[in-house]
Amino acid sequence: MVKLERKGGRMAGCIARNSEGKYVRYNTRKGVVVATGGYSQNYPMMEALQPWNLRIIGRNCSMPGVRGDGIRACLWVGAKMDETHSMMMFDRCALRPDQKVGVETAKSGDNGFFWMGSQPWLKVNADGHRFFNESGTYEGILHADEYQKGHCHYTIFDSNWPRYVQQFKQHGCSRLYPFENGVAPNIPWQTVEKTLPGLIEKGFLIKADTIGDLAKGLKLPPEELKKTVARYNELVRKGRDEDYGKEPFRLSPVDKPPFYGAKNCGYILCTMDGIQIDTHMNAIDTEGNPISGLYVVGNDSGSYFANTYPNLVTGMACGRTVTFGRLVGKYLARSKA
Ligand SMILES: Cc1cc2nc3c(=O)[nH]c(=O)nc-3n(C[C@H](O)[C@H](O)[C@H](O)COP(=O)(O)OP(=O)(O)OC[C@H]3O[C@@H](n4cnc5c(N)ncnc54)[C@H](O)[C@@H]3O)c2cc1C
Repeated sequence: MVKLERKGGRMAGCIARNSEGKYVRYNTRKGVVVATGGYSQNYPMMEALQPWNLRIIGRNCSMPGVRGDGIRACLWVGAKMDETHSMMMFDRCALRPDQKVGVETAKSGDNGFFWMGSQPWLKVNADGHRFFNESGTYEGILHADEYQKGHCHYTIFDSNWPRYVQQFKQHGCSRLYPFENGVAPNIPWQTVEKTLPGLIEKGFLIKADTIGDLAKGLKLPPEELKKTVARYNELVRKGRDEDYGKEPFRLSPVDKPPFYGAKNCGYILCTMDGIQIDTHMNAIDTEGNPISGLYVVGNDSGSYFANTYPNLVTGMACGRTVTFGRLVGKYLARSKA
């Protein structure tokens, strides 16, 4: 699809380019359903609409070919886009301590896939200080990183980590142990464990026998990190996070060498803002009225997410995509041309 066509206020169809490079016009009887997957591979569009999010990522894991074609085509025929722009980001990108967070690193492909980043480990800023309750959504800490030096945080854990990830009871894809109803996790801890040597070898994960050496490897101030770890271990012993209010079951000491640490930032999965729709997935124009015959689903559609991805319920994005896609199909099958 290259362009949508609207005639006399109603959708007439679209113009597409085929595999031979020829343009083909498709005329519609009932309407057009747009589903081209958002714009997470279109850096100029992301820079124009949500530059703050590009400052906290170091990797792009989104689908190839999602360049915002559908959203732009809808705008050209008069549709309205969400005014709060957002993308789904996970806090699971690890960089070498001398790498810069941002688009250039994401584009370079020289970045680490650090699945354990979403666990509620001790996380500190470039000064070696704690600054956040680590038990949040995947994206929560990334937005706090917007206000930190280098737009990143540093994740610190110890050799007892397989025990603690069970205690943390993460949900969704970050869970590393079977769920309480017996369902297997997306990725078990044994698989994650096998990724660690590769990350260490490439410099994306630092391993050290002392906290001082870990700090040096991460280019953090050693004395500050030692103080932070000592205070954190004290809070764990008390069973009460007096500093940031993290739940007791998400507190774990950092006392069993060797210690591990990563310079941590986000990676993009998809954009989540799009064309505003009504309850029939009918696109809305800039006056708030439905555009006859124009329907939008999936990442191209808006009116659903704002500012952040709230992964307190999992599958929110795939869920709305397949559900609303099915509903619009049923609706159009019933409707008269
Ligand atoms: C790695 C990864 C993990 C994810 N994990 C989760 C998760 O755990 N839970 C969750 O809820 N969501 C998750 N998501 C998000 C979820 O997958 C998306 O929200 C959902 O797939 C969007 O579906 P879609 O149909 O809008 O887009 P897509 O599935 O991307 O499909 C869009 C299609 O349109 C095609 N296209 C693009 N431009 C054109 C054009 N001009 N003409 C014709 N076709 C075009 C594209 O090639 C693509 O095939 C994840 C996404 C990624 C990338």
